[in-house]
Amino acid sequence: MKTVHVIGAGFAGLTVSLRLAQKGFQVELYESSDRVGGLLGTDQTPYGIAERAANALIRTEKAEGLFSELGLTPSFPLESSKKRFLFRNSPKAWPLTFLETLTLIGRVLPRVLIGGKKVLRPQAGETLLNWGERRIGKAPTRFLLGPAMQGIYGNEITHLSASLILGPLFSGAKRSKYKGLLTGPGGMQDLVDHLQTRLQELGVKIHLNSNVNLASLEGPVVLATSAKAASVLLAEKHPEFSKVLSKIQMSSLMSVTLFFTKAQEEFKGFGCLIPRGFDLKALGVLMNSYIFKDRDKTYNETWILGGQQEEALLDLPDNEILKLLADERFRILGQKDTLLDYRINRWKKALPFYDLNLENALADLAEVPEPAGFYLHGNYLSGIGLSKILERSDWIAEKIASEHG
Ligand SMILES: Cc1cc2nc3c(=O)[nH]c(=O)nc-3n(C[C@H](O)[C@H](O)[C@H](O)COP(=O)(O)OP(=O)(O)OC[C@H]3O[C@@H](n4cnc5c(N)ncnc54)[C@H](O)[C@@H]3O)c2cc1C
Repeated sequence: MKTVHVIGAGFAGLTVSLRLAQKGFQVELYESSDRVGGLLGTDQTPYGIAERAANALIRTEKAEGLFSELGLTPSFPLESSKKRFLFRNSPKAWPLTFLETLTLIGRVLPRVLIGGKKVLRPQAGETLLNWGERRIGKAPTRFLLGPAMQGIYGNEITHLSASLILGPLFSGAKRSKYKGLLTGPGGMQDLVDHLQTRLQELGVKIHLNSNVNLASLEGPVVLATSAKAASVLLAEKHPEFSKVLSKIQMSSLMSVTLFFTKAQEEFKGFGCLIPRGFDLKALGVLMNSYIFKDRDKTYNETWILGGQQEEALLDLPDNEILKLLADERFRILGQKDTLLDYRINRWKKALPFYDLNLENALADLAEVPEPAGFYLHGNYLSGIGLSKILERSDWIAEKIASEHG
Protein backbone atom coordinates (compact mmCIF):
# COMPACT_ATOMS: atom_id res chain seq x y z
CA MET A 1 0.00 0.00 0.00
CA LYS A 2 1.50 3.38 -1.02
CA THR A 3 1.87 6.06 1.60
CA VAL A 4 0.74 9.66 1.10
CA HIS A 5 1.66 12.35 3.65
CA VAL A 6 -0.81 15.16 4.30
CA ILE A 7 0.41 18.19 6.25
CA GLY A 8 -2.24 20.29 7.99
CA ALA A 9 -5.49 18.87 9.42
CA GLY A 10 -7.90 21.72 8.70
CA PHE A 11 -10.92 21.02 6.49
CA ALA A 12 -8.61 20.76 3.43
CA GLY A 13 -6.28 18.20 5.06
CA LEU A 14 -9.10 16.16 6.61
CA THR A 15 -11.13 15.87 3.41
CA VAL A 16 -8.18 15.12 1.13
CA SER A 17 -7.03 12.44 3.63
CA LEU A 18 -10.52 10.91 3.50
CA ARG A 19 -10.53 10.76 -0.29
CA LEU A 20 -6.96 9.34 -0.43
CA ALA A 21 -7.70 6.69 2.19
CA GLN A 22 -10.86 5.71 0.27
CA LYS A 23 -8.65 5.18 -2.80
CA GLY A 24 -6.56 2.68 -0.85
CA PHE A 25 -3.55 4.83 0.15
CA GLN A 26 -1.99 4.64 3.59
CA VAL A 27 -2.38 8.24 4.79
CA GLU A 28 -0.18 9.91 7.42
CA LEU A 29 -1.77 13.20 8.52
CA TYR A 30 0.43 15.70 10.40
CA GLU A 31 -1.03 18.59 12.41
CA SER A 32 1.10 21.11 14.28
CA SER A 33 -1.59 21.97 16.86
CA ASP A 34 -3.20 19.71 19.46
CA ARG A 35 -6.48 19.18 17.57
CA VAL A 36 -7.80 18.65 14.05
CA GLY A 37 -10.21 21.04 12.28
CA GLY A 38 -8.02 24.14 11.84
CA LEU A 39 -10.34 27.14 11.69
CA LEU A 40 -13.42 24.94 12.14
CA GLY A 41 -14.74 24.34 15.62
CA THR A 42 -17.68 24.96 17.90
CA ASP A 43 -17.57 26.18 21.49
CA GLN A 44 -20.23 24.97 23.93
CA THR A 45 -21.66 27.53 26.34
CA PRO A 46 -24.46 27.22 28.90
CA TYR A 47 -26.59 29.31 26.50
CA GLY A 48 -25.97 27.47 23.24
CA ILE A 49 -23.16 26.96 20.78
CA ALA A 50 -20.72 29.49 19.34
CA GLU A 51 -19.00 28.76 16.04
CA ARG A 52 -15.33 29.71 16.00
CA ALA A 53 -15.22 30.54 12.27
CA ALA A 54 -17.41 29.03 9.50
CA ASN A 55 -21.01 28.32 10.48
CA ALA A 56 -22.02 26.27 7.42
CA LEU A 57 -21.09 24.93 3.97
CA ILE A 58 -22.82 25.74 0.72
CA ARG A 59 -25.21 22.87 0.03
CA THR A 60 -23.59 21.46 -3.09
CA GLU A 61 -24.05 17.86 -4.21
CA LYS A 62 -20.55 17.03 -2.96
CA ALA A 63 -21.23 18.62 0.45
CA GLU A 64 -24.47 16.65 0.82
CA GLY A 65 -22.62 13.52 -0.30
CA LEU A 66 -19.95 14.07 2.36
CA PHE A 67 -22.53 14.37 5.17
CA SER A 68 -24.37 11.30 3.99
CA GLU A 69 -21.25 9.11 3.71
CA LEU A 70 -20.13 10.23 7.20
CA GLY A 71 -23.58 9.36 8.59
CA LEU A 72 -24.07 12.95 9.74
CA THR A 73 -27.63 14.24 9.56
CA PRO A 74 -27.39 17.77 8.17
CA SER A 75 -29.10 20.77 9.68
CA PHE A 76 -30.63 23.07 7.10
CA PRO A 77 -31.37 26.76 7.65
CA LEU A 78 -34.77 27.95 8.82
CA GLU A 79 -37.18 29.79 6.50
CA SER A 80 -36.46 32.98 8.48
CA SER A 81 -32.84 32.89 7.28
CA LYS A 82 -33.92 33.61 3.69
CA LYS A 83 -34.26 37.25 4.65
CA ARG A 84 -30.95 39.14 4.53
CA PHE A 85 -30.25 42.75 5.45
CA LEU A 86 -27.79 45.33 4.19
CA PHE A 87 -27.12 48.42 6.27
CA ARG A 88 -27.82 51.87 4.88
CA ASN A 89 -28.62 54.05 7.87
CA SER A 90 -30.70 51.09 9.06
CA PRO A 91 -30.87 47.38 8.03
CA LYS A 92 -32.69 47.09 4.71
CA ALA A 93 -33.72 44.11 2.59
CA TRP A 94 -32.82 46.19 -0.50
CA PRO A 95 -30.49 49.13 0.15
CA LEU A 96 -30.80 50.98 -3.18
CA THR A 97 -33.27 53.80 -3.83
CA PHE A 98 -35.85 53.44 -6.61
CA LEU A 99 -33.75 55.66 -8.89
CA GLU A 100 -30.51 53.79 -8.13
CA THR A 101 -32.29 50.51 -8.88
CA LEU A 102 -33.54 51.80 -12.24
CA THR A 103 -30.06 53.10 -13.07
CA LEU A 104 -28.57 49.71 -12.20
CA ILE A 105 -31.05 47.87 -14.43
CA GLY A 106 -30.51 50.39 -17.25
CA ARG A 107 -26.78 49.97 -16.98
CA VAL A 108 -26.50 46.18 -16.80
CA LEU A 109 -29.50 44.77 -18.69
CA PRO A 110 -28.92 46.20 -22.21
CA ARG A 111 -25.25 45.17 -22.13
CA VAL A 112 -26.06 41.63 -21.03
CA LEU A 113 -28.92 41.29 -23.56
CA ILE A 114 -26.65 42.37 -26.42
CA GLY A 115 -23.32 40.83 -25.42
CA GLY A 116 -24.29 38.06 -22.99
CA LYS A 117 -23.02 37.93 -19.42
CA LYS A 118 -19.38 37.70 -20.62
CA VAL A 119 -19.43 41.49 -21.23
CA LEU A 120 -19.30 41.88 -17.44
CA ARG A 121 -16.18 39.72 -17.12
CA PRO A 122 -13.52 41.41 -14.92
CA GLN A 123 -10.09 42.29 -16.28
CA ALA A 124 -6.81 41.02 -14.88
CA GLY A 125 -5.36 43.37 -12.28
CA GLU A 126 -8.70 45.02 -11.53
CA THR A 127 -9.98 45.51 -7.98
CA LEU A 128 -13.61 44.73 -7.10
CA LEU A 129 -14.11 48.44 -6.47
CA ASN A 130 -12.92 49.34 -9.98
CA TRP A 131 -14.93 46.54 -11.58
CA GLY A 132 -18.06 47.53 -9.66
CA GLU A 133 -17.87 51.23 -10.46
CA ARG A 134 -17.14 50.42 -14.13
CA ARG A 135 -19.86 47.79 -14.52
CA ILE A 136 -22.68 48.31 -12.03
CA GLY A 137 -22.18 51.90 -10.83
CA LYS A 138 -21.19 53.63 -7.59
CA ALA A 139 -24.24 53.06 -5.36
CA PRO A 140 -24.66 49.31 -6.12
CA THR A 141 -20.92 48.88 -5.60
CA ARG A 142 -20.96 50.62 -2.25
CA PHE A 143 -24.21 49.22 -0.85
CA LEU A 144 -24.48 45.76 -2.48
CA LEU A 145 -21.20 44.45 -3.85
CA GLY A 146 -18.95 45.93 -1.13
CA PRO A 147 -20.72 44.53 1.93
CA ALA A 148 -21.49 41.17 0.26
CA MET A 149 -17.87 40.51 -0.72
CA GLN A 150 -16.44 41.85 2.50
CA GLY A 151 -18.77 39.44 4.33
CA ILE A 152 -17.15 36.48 2.57
CA TYR A 153 -13.53 37.61 2.12
CA GLY A 154 -13.25 39.71 5.30
CA ASN A 155 -11.67 42.66 3.50
CA GLU A 156 -12.65 45.85 1.73
CA ILE A 157 -13.31 45.77 -2.01
CA THR A 158 -10.74 48.54 -2.53
CA HIS A 159 -8.11 45.76 -2.50
CA LEU A 160 -9.93 42.54 -3.43
CA SER A 161 -9.20 41.01 -6.85
CA ALA A 162 -12.19 41.05 -9.21
CA SER A 163 -10.88 38.32 -11.46
CA LEU A 164 -10.11 35.91 -8.58
CA ILE A 165 -13.50 36.43 -6.97
CA LEU A 166 -15.86 37.01 -9.89
CA GLY A 167 -13.84 35.38 -12.68
CA PRO A 168 -15.24 31.86 -12.03
CA LEU A 169 -18.79 33.20 -12.62
CA PHE A 170 -17.80 34.02 -16.18
CA SER A 171 -15.67 30.95 -16.92
CA GLY A 172 -18.45 29.29 -18.93
CA ALA A 173 -18.47 26.27 -16.57
CA LYS A 174 -21.97 25.07 -15.71
CA ARG A 175 -22.98 26.27 -12.25
CA SER A 176 -25.46 24.39 -10.13
CA LYS A 177 -28.41 26.25 -8.64
CA TYR A 178 -27.81 27.70 -5.16
CA LYS A 179 -29.64 25.42 -2.71
CA GLY A 180 -28.69 27.12 0.56
CA LEU A 181 -26.43 25.90 3.35
CA LEU A 182 -25.86 22.92 5.61
CA THR A 183 -24.08 22.17 8.87
CA GLY A 184 -24.00 19.52 11.57
CA PRO A 185 -26.80 19.46 14.17
CA GLY A 186 -24.25 20.38 16.84
CA GLY A 187 -22.46 22.84 14.58
CA MET A 188 -19.26 22.53 12.56
CA GLN A 189 -17.46 20.58 15.30
CA ASP A 190 -19.89 17.74 14.54
CA LEU A 191 -18.53 17.62 10.99
CA VAL A 192 -14.92 17.72 12.23
CA ASP A 193 -15.62 14.90 14.73
CA HIS A 194 -17.30 12.73 12.09
CA LEU A 195 -14.40 13.29 9.69
CA GLN A 196 -11.86 12.39 12.36
CA THR A 197 -13.73 9.20 13.32
CA ARG A 198 -14.04 8.07 9.71
CA LEU A 199 -10.34 8.72 9.07
CA GLN A 200 -9.44 6.59 12.08
CA GLU A 201 -11.76 3.81 10.85
CA LEU A 202 -9.97 3.92 7.50
CA GLY A 203 -6.58 3.56 9.20
CA VAL A 204 -5.35 7.13 8.67
CA LYS A 205 -2.63 7.90 11.23
CA ILE A 206 -3.15 11.36 12.73
CA HIS A 207 -0.02 12.90 14.26
CA LEU A 208 -0.97 15.84 16.50
CA ASN A 209 1.55 18.41 17.87
CA SER A 210 3.75 17.39 14.97
CA ASN A 211 6.78 19.28 13.74
CA VAL A 212 7.21 17.42 10.48
CA ASN A 213 10.35 17.73 8.36
CA LEU A 214 9.79 17.22 4.62
CA ALA A 215 13.25 15.68 4.20
CA SER A 216 12.15 12.70 6.32
CA LEU A 217 9.10 11.87 4.15
CA GLU A 218 9.01 9.40 1.27
CA GLY A 219 6.13 9.42 -1.21
CA PRO A 220 3.68 12.09 -2.34
CA VAL A 221 3.07 15.01 0.04
CA VAL A 222 -0.05 17.21 0.18
CA LEU A 223 0.61 20.60 1.75
CA ALA A 224 -2.78 21.51 3.21
CA THR A 225 -1.59 24.47 5.28
CA SER A 226 -1.68 28.22 4.69
CA ALA A 227 0.50 29.49 1.83
CA LYS A 228 2.90 30.98 4.41
CA ALA A 229 3.33 27.67 6.24
CA ALA A 230 3.74 25.81 2.91
CA SER A 231 6.40 28.35 1.93
CA VAL A 232 8.36 27.72 5.14
CA LEU A 233 8.10 23.94 4.68
CA LEU A 234 9.39 24.13 1.09
CA ALA A 235 12.07 26.80 1.69
CA GLU A 236 15.07 24.50 1.87
CA LYS A 237 14.23 21.96 -0.84
CA HIS A 238 12.42 24.21 -3.34
CA PRO A 239 13.45 27.84 -2.70
CA GLU A 240 12.02 29.26 -5.94
CA PHE A 241 8.57 27.81 -5.40
CA SER A 242 8.71 28.76 -1.73
CA LYS A 243 9.53 32.37 -2.66
CA VAL A 244 6.38 32.71 -4.77
CA LEU A 245 4.23 31.24 -1.96
CA SER A 246 5.77 33.63 0.56
CA LYS A 247 4.33 36.60 -1.38
CA ILE A 248 0.76 35.59 -0.46
CA GLN A 249 -0.52 37.86 2.30
CA MET A 250 -2.74 36.70 5.13
CA SER A 251 -5.38 38.78 6.85
CA SER A 252 -6.95 38.64 10.28
CA LEU A 253 -10.57 38.25 11.34
CA MET A 254 -12.38 38.06 14.64
CA SER A 255 -15.74 36.44 15.39
CA VAL A 256 -17.62 37.56 18.49
CA THR A 257 -20.69 35.60 19.56
CA LEU A 258 -22.99 37.45 21.96
CA PHE A 259 -25.75 35.75 23.99
CA PHE A 260 -28.60 37.99 25.19
CA THR A 261 -31.35 37.74 27.77
CA LYS A 262 -33.92 38.58 25.13
CA ALA A 263 -34.25 38.20 21.37
CA GLN A 264 -34.25 41.17 19.04
CA GLU A 265 -37.33 40.67 16.92
CA GLU A 266 -37.27 43.67 14.64
CA PHE A 267 -34.84 42.20 12.11
CA LYS A 268 -35.37 38.47 11.73
CA GLY A 269 -33.08 36.99 9.12
CA PHE A 270 -29.68 35.55 8.24
CA GLY A 271 -27.92 38.70 9.28
CA CYS A 272 -26.88 42.17 8.22
CA LEU A 273 -23.87 43.24 6.15
CA ILE A 274 -22.34 46.62 6.80
CA PRO A 275 -20.74 48.74 4.05
CA ARG A 276 -17.77 50.98 4.78
CA GLY A 277 -18.29 54.72 5.10
CA PHE A 278 -20.65 54.75 8.12
CA ASP A 279 -17.83 54.92 10.63
CA LEU A 280 -18.67 51.41 11.84
CA LYS A 281 -16.00 48.77 12.48
CA ALA A 282 -18.19 45.65 12.24
CA LEU A 283 -18.22 43.96 8.83
CA GLY A 284 -21.43 42.10 9.49
CA VAL A 285 -23.58 40.22 11.97
CA LEU A 286 -25.08 36.73 11.77
CA MET A 287 -28.40 36.32 13.57
CA ASN A 288 -27.67 32.71 14.56
CA SER A 289 -31.00 32.00 16.24
CA TYR A 290 -32.86 32.86 13.03
CA ILE A 291 -30.53 30.68 10.91
CA PHE A 292 -30.46 27.24 12.53
CA LYS A 293 -33.15 25.51 14.56
CA ASP A 294 -33.09 24.17 18.12
CA ARG A 295 -29.43 24.85 18.80
CA ASP A 296 -29.60 27.74 21.20
CA LYS A 297 -31.10 28.14 24.61
CA THR A 298 -31.04 31.90 24.24
CA TYR A 299 -30.94 34.38 21.38
CA ASN A 300 -27.42 35.03 20.03
CA GLU A 301 -25.60 36.84 17.25
CA THR A 302 -22.09 36.51 15.78
CA TRP A 303 -20.36 39.75 14.84
CA ILE A 304 -17.41 39.73 12.40
CA LEU A 305 -14.65 42.33 12.59
CA GLY A 306 -11.14 42.76 11.25
CA GLY A 307 -9.59 42.59 7.79
CA GLN A 308 -6.25 43.93 6.57
CA GLN A 309 -7.05 47.57 7.43
CA GLU A 310 -8.46 46.84 10.89
CA GLU A 311 -6.08 44.20 12.24
CA ALA A 312 -5.40 46.27 15.36
CA LEU A 313 -8.96 45.50 16.56
CA LEU A 314 -7.81 41.96 17.34
CA ASP A 315 -5.41 43.34 19.95
CA LEU A 316 -8.14 45.06 21.95
CA PRO A 317 -9.00 43.47 25.30
CA ASP A 318 -12.38 41.71 25.55
CA ASN A 319 -14.06 44.55 27.49
CA GLU A 320 -13.19 47.10 24.79
CA ILE A 321 -14.45 44.83 22.02
CA LEU A 322 -17.72 44.30 23.92
CA LYS A 323 -18.12 48.05 24.45
CA LEU A 324 -17.45 48.79 20.78
CA LEU A 325 -20.02 46.18 19.74
CA ALA A 326 -22.62 47.38 22.23
CA ASP A 327 -22.36 50.87 20.65
CA GLU A 328 -22.41 49.60 17.09
CA ARG A 329 -25.25 47.17 17.79
CA PHE A 330 -27.32 50.07 19.06
CA ARG A 331 -26.52 52.11 15.93
CA ILE A 332 -27.20 49.21 13.55
CA LEU A 333 -30.07 47.26 15.13
CA GLY A 334 -31.31 49.87 17.61
CA GLN A 335 -31.00 47.32 20.44
CA LYS A 336 -29.61 47.58 23.96
CA ASP A 337 -29.99 44.20 25.66
CA THR A 338 -28.38 42.55 28.64
CA LEU A 339 -25.46 40.35 27.69
CA LEU A 340 -25.48 36.87 29.25
CA ASP A 341 -22.26 35.48 27.83
CA TYR A 342 -19.86 35.87 24.90
CA ARG A 343 -17.14 34.05 22.98
CA ILE A 344 -14.39 35.85 21.06
CA ASN A 345 -12.21 34.08 18.50
CA ARG A 346 -9.26 36.07 17.22
CA TRP A 347 -7.92 34.66 13.96
CA LYS A 348 -4.58 36.39 13.39
CA LYS A 349 -3.18 36.07 9.88
CA ALA A 350 -5.46 33.09 9.36
CA LEU A 351 -7.20 33.77 6.05
CA PRO A 352 -5.63 34.45 2.64
CA PHE A 353 -6.08 38.03 1.48
CA TYR A 354 -7.82 37.71 -1.92
CA ASP A 355 -6.11 40.83 -3.25
CA LEU A 356 -4.22 41.67 -6.44
CA ASN A 357 -1.10 40.35 -4.79
CA LEU A 358 -2.70 36.87 -4.56
CA GLU A 359 -3.85 37.18 -8.19
CA ASN A 360 -0.20 37.83 -9.21
CA ALA A 361 1.20 35.12 -6.94
CA LEU A 362 -1.20 32.50 -8.38
CA ALA A 363 -0.22 33.56 -11.91
CA ASP A 364 3.46 33.18 -10.92
CA LEU A 365 2.76 29.77 -9.34
CA ALA A 366 1.30 28.61 -12.65
CA GLU A 367 4.64 29.49 -14.30
CA VAL A 368 6.94 27.79 -11.76
CA PRO A 369 6.70 23.98 -12.06
CA GLU A 370 5.18 22.38 -8.94
CA PRO A 371 7.97 20.35 -7.29
CA ALA A 372 7.53 16.66 -8.21
CA GLY A 373 5.53 14.75 -5.61
CA PHE A 374 4.13 17.88 -3.90
CA TYR A 375 0.49 18.94 -4.10
CA LEU A 376 -0.74 22.30 -2.79
CA HIS A 377 -4.11 22.47 -1.07
CA GLY A 378 -5.99 25.09 0.93
CA ASN A 379 -8.25 28.11 0.82
CA TYR A 380 -5.85 30.36 -1.13
CA LEU A 381 -5.99 28.21 -4.27
CA SER A 382 -9.46 27.67 -5.64
CA GLY A 383 -11.77 29.45 -3.23
CA ILE A 384 -12.06 30.44 0.40
CA GLY A 385 -15.31 28.53 1.07
CA LEU A 386 -15.50 24.96 2.34
CA SER A 387 -17.43 23.62 -0.66
CA LYS A 388 -14.62 24.76 -2.98
CA ILE A 389 -12.02 23.17 -0.68
CA LEU A 390 -14.00 19.92 -0.83
CA GLU A 391 -13.97 20.01 -4.65
CA ARG A 392 -10.21 20.48 -4.63
CA SER A 393 -9.78 17.54 -2.22
CA ASP A 394 -11.52 15.27 -4.76
CA TRP A 395 -9.39 16.66 -7.58
CA ILE A 396 -6.08 16.22 -5.71
CA ALA A 397 -6.93 12.67 -4.66
CA GLU A 398 -7.75 11.78 -8.29
CA LYS A 399 -4.49 13.35 -9.46
CA ILE A 400 -2.40 11.46 -6.88
CA ALA A 401 -4.19 8.20 -7.74
CA SER A 402 -3.45 8.68 -11.44
CA GLU A 403 0.20 9.62 -10.84
CA HIS A 404 1.06 7.28 -7.95
CA GLY A 405 -1.72 4.68 -7.78
C1 LIG B 1 -14.67 34.08 10.87
C2 LIG B 1 -14.70 33.16 9.68
C3 LIG B 1 -15.93 32.76 9.15
C4 LIG B 1 -15.98 31.89 8.04
N1 LIG B 1 -17.20 31.49 7.58
C5 LIG B 1 -17.28 30.57 6.59
C6 LIG B 1 -18.54 30.01 6.22
O1 LIG B 1 -19.57 30.29 6.84
N2 LIG B 1 -18.55 29.09 5.21
C7 LIG B 1 -17.41 28.70 4.56
O2 LIG B 1 -17.50 27.88 3.63
N3 LIG B 1 -16.20 29.19 4.91
C8 LIG B 1 -16.10 30.09 5.92
N4 LIG B 1 -14.88 30.55 6.32
C9 LIG B 1 -13.67 30.07 5.63
C10 LIG B 1 -13.27 28.64 6.03
O3 LIG B 1 -13.54 28.43 7.40
C11 LIG B 1 -11.78 28.41 5.76
O4 LIG B 1 -11.44 28.82 4.45
C12 LIG B 1 -11.41 26.93 5.92
O5 LIG B 1 -11.83 26.43 7.17
C13 LIG B 1 -9.91 26.78 5.75
O6 LIG B 1 -9.55 25.43 5.82
P1 LIG B 1 -8.06 24.99 5.51
O7 LIG B 1 -7.95 23.55 5.84
O8 LIG B 1 -7.65 25.44 4.14
O9 LIG B 1 -7.15 25.87 6.50
P2 LIG B 1 -7.03 25.86 8.09
O10 LIG B 1 -8.33 25.62 8.74
O11 LIG B 1 -6.29 27.11 8.43
O12 LIG B 1 -6.13 24.58 8.41
C14 LIG B 1 -4.73 24.54 8.22
C15 LIG B 1 -4.17 23.58 9.26
O13 LIG B 1 -2.78 23.41 9.00
C16 LIG B 1 -2.10 23.35 10.26
N5 LIG B 1 -0.68 23.66 10.02
C17 LIG B 1 -0.11 24.84 9.66
N6 LIG B 1 1.23 24.69 9.51
C18 LIG B 1 1.51 23.38 9.77
C19 LIG B 1 2.71 22.60 9.75
N7 LIG B 1 3.90 23.14 9.46
N8 LIG B 1 2.63 21.28 10.06
C20 LIG B 1 1.43 20.71 10.35
N9 LIG B 1 0.26 21.41 10.39
C21 LIG B 1 0.30 22.72 10.08
C22 LIG B 1 -2.83 24.40 11.09
O14 LIG B 1 -2.59 24.23 12.47
C23 LIG B 1 -4.28 24.12 10.69
O15 LIG B 1 -4.87 23.14 11.51
C24 LIG B 1 -14.77 31.42 7.44
C25 LIG B 1 -13.54 31.80 7.98
C26 LIG B 1 -13.50 32.66 9.09
C27 LIG B 1 -12.15 33.03 9.68
